[in-house]
Amino acid sequence: MYTITLIPGDGIGPEVTKAMKKVVKASGVDINWEEVKAGMETIEEYNTPLPDYVIDSIKKNKIAIKGPVTTPVGKGFRSVNVGLRQKLDLYANVRPIKNFKGLKNRYDNVDLVIIRENTEGCYSGIEHKVGDYAGETIKIITRPACERIVDFAVNYVKENNRKKLTGVHKANIMKISDGLFLDIYNKKAEESGLDYDDLIVDAAAMNLVLNPEKYDVMVMPNLYGDILSDLGAGLVGGLGMIPSANIGKDCAVFEAVHGSAPQIAGMNKANPTALIQSAVMMLKYIGEFDAANKIEKALDEIFSEGKILTEDLGGCASTDEFADELCRKI
Ligand code: NAD
Repeated sequence: MYTITLIPGDGIGPEVTKAMKKVVKASGVDINWEEVKAGMETIEEYNTPLPDYVIDSIKKNKIAIKGPVTTPVGKGFRSVNVGLRQKLDLYANVRPIKNFKGLKNRYDNVDLVIIRENTEGCYSGIEHKVGDYAGETIKIITRPACERIVDFAVNYVKENNRKKLTGVHKANIMKISDGLFLDIYNKKAEESGLDYDDLIVDAAAMNLVLNPEKYDVMVMPNLYGDILSDLGAGLVGGLGMIPSANIGKDCAVFEAVHGSAPQIAGMNKANPTALIQSAVMMLKYIGEFDAANKIEKALDEIFSEGKILTEDLGGCASTDEFADELCRKI
């Protein structure tokens, strides 16, 4: 029996979390979910969207899975997601982007992994106003953070028998910050003996739309990874599909790439695949490969049949119907 921290989140979070729990249970792994709240709903009681008990629970259990948490745009509290990644030093964000056979998409040959530096860059949280004339956000790129994310990416390629590594940057313009990232990337990629190249981020956006099959594992600073992984989601059926893992030295937090989708919250319409695939990543991380494979096989089956699909994929099944069908297939 595992004890795992569960943050259901808000918006569509509770619905996709319920579906994910059902599917994990059907896969045969016994999990004691330690449920904790974060976000808007804790502000009144604790005066913070990220109370210490959340961090303490994850530090104790080492593994957590979370639903999306709403962050006010342009004002209000800092993102709970960014806060979690920084407080737990979850430095590597891994986002696999793969299409399912049978699911009708623009592409049928995408299989790439975006590895994003998760603790600094434009998301360092150092921002200030210059009177009412300007706003400044400071982008920090440090040598230790570049070294560990590139090491992580090199190991990921080797351990997962992937073919190639691509470093993504904007070192032609940001010669000092992205220049440091690129220098470290080139040195370590060369030493690794892997097949590797690098790409400027704007060209990467175009190439991913034109020829996504040419890319395998891509490593990049924080903001670029956030943007290109949503682009990647668009290649394979949308945000309802893409899982992620936030990995640190001591803890790991698994979550869907998507947000709280307030427009469809509470309607039993959300696609739970992204969080279910995040649970698959989590099960593999804790060594439960049989259960993970069972869920993956059931997902392959449901998508190749194409009968029970949620609205974002052109179907009319509810979140619950999709999850129940998946459980029957496991
Ligand atoms: P979003 O991902 O919530 O929604 C973007 C679009 O994708 C919407 O049309 C939405 O309906 C659709 N969508 C997303 N997930 C879906 C699913 N599972 N099934 C079907 N359709 C889905 O992005 P947004 O609107 O930019 O952000 C909403 C809120 O979520 C914001 O407060 C943002 O800060 C937050 N957010 C949180 C996380 C996180 O918790 N990790 C990540 C991204 C955004």
